[in-house]
Amino acid sequence: MAAIELKVPDIGGSAAVIELLVKEGDTVASNQGLLTLESDKATMEVPASAGGVLKQWKVKLGDTLSEGDVIALLEAAGEPVAAPVAPAAAPAISTPEPKAAPAPKGDANHHCQLVVIGSGPGGYTAAFRAADLGMDVILVERYAQLGGVCLNVGCIPSKALLHAANVIEEVKHVADIGLDFGAAKIDLDKLRAHKEKTVGTLSKGIAGMAKQRKVRTVTGVAEFASANRLSVTTANGVETIDFAQGIIAAGSQPVKLPAFPWDDPRVMDSTDALMLADVPKRLLVVGGGIIGLEMACVYSALGSAVTVVEFMEQLMPGADPDLVKPLQNLLKKRGVAIHTSCKVLKVTAGKKALTAEFDGASVPEGKDYERVLVSVGRSPNGGKLKAENAGVQVSERGFIAVDKQMRTNVPHIFAIGDLVGQPMLAHKATHEAKVAAEVAAGHKRQWVARVIPSVAYTDPEIAWVGLTETEAKAKSIAYEVGKFPWAASGRAIGIGRTEGFTKLLFDPATHRVIGAGIVGSHAGDLIAEVALAIEMGCEAADIGHTIHPHPTLSETVAMAAEVFDGSITDLYIPKKK
Ligand SMILES: Cc1cc2nc3c(=O)[nH]c(=O)nc-3n(C[C@H](O)[C@H](O)[C@H](O)COP(=O)(O)OP(=O)(O)OC[C@H]3O[C@@H](n4cnc5c(N)ncnc54)[C@H](O)[C@@H]3O)c2cc1C
Repeated sequence: MAAIELKVPDIGGSAAVIELLVKEGDTVASNQGLLTLESDKATMEVPASAGGVLKQWKVKLGDTLSEGDVIALLEAAGEPVAAPVAPAAAPAISTPEPKAAPAPKGDANHHCQLVVIGSGPGGYTAAFRAADLGMDVILVERYAQLGGVCLNVGCIPSKALLHAANVIEEVKHVADIGLDFGAAKIDLDKLRAHKEKTVGTLSKGIAGMAKQRKVRTVTGVAEFASANRLSVTTANGVETIDFAQGIIAAGSQPVKLPAFPWDDPRVMDSTDALMLADVPKRLLVVGGGIIGLEMACVYSALGSAVTVVEFMEQLMPGADPDLVKPLQNLLKKRGVAIHTSCKVLKVTAGKKALTAEFDGASVPEGKDYERVLVSVGRSPNGGKLKAENAGVQVSERGFIAVDKQMRTNVPHIFAIGDLVGQPMLAHKATHEAKVAAEVAAGHKRQWVARVIPSVAYTDPEIAWVGLTETEAKAKSIAYEVGKFPWAASGRAIGIGRTEGFTKLLFDPATHRVIGAGIVGSHAGDLIAEVALAIEMGCEAADIGHTIHPHPTLSETVAMAAEVFDGSITDLYIPKKK
């Protein structure tokens, strides 16, 4: 079969190749994105004008291209070759008249164009987006209350409790500046009620929006009966749903290590800890990741003597060690005992206490605890859906592999959220959900985001996005740092939170920002600016020249960029000789 030339369509000038999206030898579909071009005006994806096997690239990263330049040679798959299609600015791209497959007809209890399993941030977002695009959608959830882990037993209740913890610590702290409110009197019932009201308000909101969008909900446990049929065990027996397309958004659950007596209610996972049954005198937190440390902040503020043990050398593995240090220092100052490189071998349930056995370089002095929280990670629910009946491949650990359009190996079934891989974060799930729903509705969409920010809502908060220094060193990626200490920020001094800093990582060749880490109050809000800067390909000067309001913590982002390019005036940095 003769090879055809794929050419650059009209892109309104010239643009540089910044990313090759497929490899030589890959099979590409007609209109699938081939490469990303960037001009001084826009970033755009160039789609293939025909489907087939990409035989040879005729361009490389950094080449400047304009209309008519040959991009690659393609062995066509027999379909007619269309004229080159003009690319849309990323994120692309909708066809004029998208079409989703019609709902199947048959003997099932329900029929729909799209069924979504799971109503977490992934599932309800996918269901709502698909409905807004005109699809007839059924959302299946095993619990009566919609919203998944994030809303019911994750992001939302934990942040409601962390707010309370922050107020308690803040009130203690302002005594130093002459505002002594005395010790907090904690009404646990009211605090629990606040958390439950927050969750209830949002959950009702989701149920209301499902109705407004005419998304039908079925309450029950779903399993695949075939590639186009779900069998759902409801309170009234088994119901069947025939669907043209499906999205699996069944999430994840806490890992339950076998060394713990799980039948004892004093042993908790994160869901139990959020129930706030009481404030234990001594709490052992096993696992110093984000969830464990957030709960350590909550229980420590409420009055527990908290001990954290982490198997790895550092708390919050994944974040750069310098970001974690201010948090570790503050926790220690507040009396939280922290032991890294320490393993819990076993916990035994006694009448008066849970007794832990440790192993490691530094082990806790005390062995007895009133409660133990095990927060050592989450495992995906992919293996619990009889996905094999639909032909969907699931890994041994329960993850489901997907492509850039969130399709599984069965093209009409998509998967999103925690069960497709790390990072297990709500904002990743919602973005994947929109991609899957739009593709299911017939739109030409794929995952285009470069980075996913991570945030620990501890006190201080820790946030990072893009490349970390640890990763850069491990992969020998060249980078330079611009770091602005909050001790020089007027706002941070005013609020008495000078322990933080803002650190930006730049590509030394292009001066583009490629990563960031922020520790300090509201770091989770501040990181969003850097995520946008990375998506937009901003250079240090773009950030430094953007006027940030004064006096704010957001200025520290601009100032970190100024430190990098040497234009900072709010610090004195002697010139290198
Ligand atoms: C304590 C805690 C705090 C967290 N804090 C944050 C945070 O601050 N920010 C953040 O981004 N992420 C946070 N996360 C992670 C976040 O909650 C998850 O990444 C997110 O909920 C994943 O969304 P999802 O849609 O993939 O699945 P989930 O939210 O897990 O939802 C899956 C849904 O599917 C349902 N389901 C499963 N199997 C079936 C079945 N067979 N039939 C019917 N229904 C089924 C489940 O009941 C569930 O409702 C936190 C998690 C925890 C535990």
